[in-house]
Amino acid sequence: MGDNAMLELTRIIQNAALETSPEDQVQVIVDAISDLIAVDVCSLYRQSSNQDMVLIASHGLVAPEKVVIPAGQGLVGRVVKMRHSVNIKEPTQQPDFYYVPNSQEELFHSFCGVPLVYHGGIIGALVVQSRRAELLSAEQEALLTTLAAHLALLILALPEPKLPNAPRNQRYFGISGAPGLAIGKVHLLDDDGLSTVRESACKNPANELKEWQTLKQATLEDLEQEREAVQASLGDSLAAVLDAYKMLLEDPSFTDRITCEIEAGKALPWAMRQAVKFFSDQFKAMDDPYLKARHEDIEQLGDKLYRIWRGQHLNLLPSPDKGPLILMGHHVSVSDIVSLPSEQLGAIVCFAGAALSHIAVFANALGIPAVMGVGELSVKDGDYLIVDGDHARVTLKPTKAVLKEYRKILKARQGFDRELLAESAKPAVTLDGVEVAVMANSGLQADIMPGIRNGADGVGLYRTEIPFMVRESLPSEDEQTAVYRKVVEAYGDKPVYFRTLDIGSDKQLPYLPHFDEENPALGLRGVRFTLDNLQLLMNQYRAILRAAGCGEQVHLLLPMVSSTHELDACIDLLEEVIEQLNEEGISVCRPKLGVMVEVPGAISLLPFWKEKIDFISVGTNDLSQYLLAVDRNNPEVSKYYDSLHPAVLHELVRIIDITKRCDLPVSICGEMASDPVSVIMLLGMGIRKLSMSSAKLPRIKWLIRNLSMAEMEKVLQAALCVDNAGAIRELGELALRELGVEYDK
Ligand code: PEP
Ligand code: MG
Repeated sequence: MGDNAMLELTRIIQNAALETSPEDQVQVIVDAISDLIAVDVCSLYRQSSNQDMVLIASHGLVAPEKVVIPAGQGLVGRVVKMRHSVNIKEPTQQPDFYYVPNSQEELFHSFCGVPLVYHGGIIGALVVQSRRAELLSAEQEALLTTLAAHLALLILALPEPKLPNAPRNQRYFGISGAPGLAIGKVHLLDDDGLSTVRESACKNPANELKEWQTLKQATLEDLEQEREAVQASLGDSLAAVLDAYKMLLEDPSFTDRITCEIEAGKALPWAMRQAVKFFSDQFKAMDDPYLKARHEDIEQLGDKLYRIWRGQHLNLLPSPDKGPLILMGHHVSVSDIVSLPSEQLGAIVCFAGAALSHIAVFANALGIPAVMGVGELSVKDGDYLIVDGDHARVTLKPTKAVLKEYRKILKARQGFDRELLAESAKPAVTLDGVEVAVMANSGLQADIMPGIRNGADGVGLYRTEIPFMVRESLPSEDEQTAVYRKVVEAYGDKPVYFRTLDIGSDKQLPYLPHFDEENPALGLRGVRFTLDNLQLLMNQYRAILRAAGCGEQVHLLLPMVSSTHELDACIDLLEEVIEQLNEEGISVCRPKLGVMVEVPGAISLLPFWKEKIDFISVGTNDLSQYLLAVDRNNPEVSKYYDSLHPAVLHELVRIIDITKRCDLPVSICGEMASDPVSVIMLLGMGIRKLSMSSAKLPRIKWLIRNLSMAEMEKVLQAALCVDNAGAIRELGELALRELGVEYDK
């Protein structure tokens, strides 16, 4: 082995990768390990949710029935407890040896087990056993540990081991797609998608090609009907997602692939499967997370084609009790959502999927909770499920007691939300008379009205990139003007802050060229991107100014500014656009101009910029990411991302101090603005303007009406003396409890 260990390891992992299912992959690995280390047994255990260790693959162990080692027991339990390898001779003589009945383990005279660790927690163990009474060499033990690190990632893709008495109330975590709490019955989406189709031949290719044309036409008509339904309920920008499906379907290269397969003698379903796989693989291979997420669109289109081919249109659910349903599946498609009466749609849970998927955008617009990427869960239609979109958590098979408790919480929340909604028009004034402007973050036509209904004092952040992202090509100046005008008109004399395109990093436009960057969050994004593509900025300025006319309420906000040079260049272009429009006879005025403070480097420059800008808005999402060196979209490091980190709080105090000296109005538009504990800290610092997603407005307005500024200043002072985010949150939560503000109903 020796120098070849690395090579061997690569070979094992590569061979395993040739297998299509994770089950087969782990079997290939355990077989290969026993061969490589020359042992008689190699077994892989996975920890179940009740901590038992379940054997999921083995080479050489005689296991007449399912092997489950109870939590904390046996040598496997010792490996879990020690959290490092256990390499011993004569295992059966160990006091903690656990004999698996009928396994013939008495034949083995050595044991070496290493833990499988993921995100700092034990998830399984890899064990080798040998008939020889010999310890593994240090080199073999190290190789086993290396293989265990790879296996830890592989077994995460396997379904949870099924236990005879599966525990109730199991919790699974994913990525939050949309906030909110829901309880409902699972509706598993049809798993007989296009990917299950097997290879088959056709007798008459000419007929098959004709059938393809008919199917394509029927699917296009179906998509058009869905488009109309979505447009009526959610507006143009979301209906554009269905245009994306249509464009894929109308793309000649898609039909070319199918034709090729059919002409080679394959049946239509197989031809479609091959075409979808080809394009989906192309998207998956892209580095860019937005484009990567687009493989879902092509796969969902494939499933739709297959469903229509089978003559089986969307399965509207038999649901006699009309209770809420939790749509659940590998990928949930727009068609799945549209097929369900909206009052029955309780939540969406995707086994796969990312926060950037279109479904998350839809769920937000519809105001229903969504959790993405929870992994394969063993559930069946009709099982009860609790979905908590705020904490990206689902609870499976809740017991009656837990269900009762959550129903109570949900009922209280709904009742409370109704009360809050009734008073959402009231201003947010603290108990000691300080008024706070509470505005909405927006970016979709579908969230204009919820903002107004929920009592927004204006739009504090309009993310203009969202209407660009849900399209297939750049919107024209006129199209943009129409979108912006709708927002301005809807909000009347209330202020609207339009942020210029914040493209780059995790937000890419699929139809523009983009460059592979080693560190995209530190790369070409925000104004860096728009200054490099200044035609986009000019176009957008023109559209915003035309929508604004000479109204006082429109504000312009520049994202990711980090140098005076960038700010000056943005101002020069703005002045040029004003001149151009006035020369064209379109009367416009210079709107108030501000910068997002989200790059730490911008903070020290604020005093230099005070004559050039009219206000600032602090983007605490990015500011925290850059201050803490934690990628806000990387689940591997999400536990390190916390905007209540002392460094963020102290930096915010510094920003507010500078703005006071420079007489610059300041607002907060990151997620912190809607987190109750953070609100205490921010108001305590002197912030008087917050902007957040519209769903959160009524609660935060109510919270502010129940707090006193004097109290918040006191809590902040205590928080500024603490060195970690957890303790700061505790201080805030304690204050909320003592004030009797039971926020998290
Ligand atoms: C922020 O960074 O805090 C912010 C509001 O901008 P975005 O989340 O769109 O990057
Ligand atoms: Mg930002």
